[in-house]
Amino acid sequence: MTQLQQPAWVYMQGDLVPWEQANLHISTEAVTRGLSVYEGLKGYWDEDDRNFGVIAVREHFERLRRSARLLHIPFDMSFAEFERAAHRLLGVLLTPGRDMWLRATVYVVEGHWGEGTVADLVLTAFHQPKARPEPISVGVSTWQRAGDAVLPPRVKMTSNYTMARLARIEGRPRGHSEMILLNGSGRVAEATGSCILMVRDGRVVTPPATEGRLEGITVDIVARICDTLGIPFMERPIDRTELYVADELACAGTLAEIVPIEQVDDFTLPRQRPVLDQVAERYWQAARGQIAQKGIERSFVSTSTETGMSSLANG
Ligand code: PMP
Repeated sequence: MTQLQQPAWVYMQGDLVPWEQANLHISTEAVTRGLSVYEGLKGYWDEDDRNFGVIAVREHFERLRRSARLLHIPFDMSFAEFERAAHRLLGVLLTPGRDMWLRATVYVVEGHWGEGTVADLVLTAFHQPKARPEPISVGVSTWQRAGDAVLPPRVKMTSNYTMARLARIEGRPRGHSEMILLNGSGRVAEATGSCILMVRDGRVVTPPATEGRLEGITVDIVARICDTLGIPFMERPIDRTELYVADELACAGTLAEIVPIEQVDDFTLPRQRPVLDQVAERYWQAARGQIAQKGIERSFVSTSTETGMSSLANG
């Protein structure tokens, strides 16, 4: 069972507070209606240069703003303030040698039915293992990704994860660590916590966001990597049956990176993954600052200060 870490500090109400004091009242819409939007960012420790860089901070900030705007949640923090807050928390929590996942959540802390809405940015950060992602077995869930007019999947709102949770519960007894959700038309939307990459005839394919997936940051980076490597990349709808006859499949997301899929339901995929292994390797190296890649910018965090001065560098 996954044991949740309890880091010493949390960022909320514009300051660092001890983990035990990071509480929300039961009367808030964040609690009563599950009203919050969030982001998951990843930071990597580079042993050679002895620095810690968080990738794609601006892209995550922009998506957080889009998610909040769609739900009429006021969130007017500037990028500089957001980055400073992230550096401040990471600066006190990071341990040399270890990678971290930063969760940025905008909770609705005041207001009722959309009147008088007040929100607060809360940041938490957790250490992450450094191991390369192992191939996984996935299933196609009987639960569906909600449509744009129900719970818009293109933004990252907490309520979208209720169905994802049910899908994971459904898949666990069948040995699936991740599940693929179809949209209302029976085509592939995404996995519960990542987007889907498929290879057919040497071409990398992912469904467009209009098929019911999050506007994923990692798939956008993959598109840039494919461009660099000269691999054709396209967004188009994917039928469920294409998953079973695909040459290669992988999940793509910030936390897990590019995770090879070896089995979908009862179908075993080819062992060789010449295209996605190449893409995954380049992502792995670029995220850690070992090579420069267009689309991956790293924001460096200083370990030594509590205020965490910002320094952006192009990677
Ligand atoms: N879809 C869902 C439902 C997710 O939770 C995530 C993880 N944020 C993704 C896709 C991948 O998005 P990203 O590459 O921006 O992390």
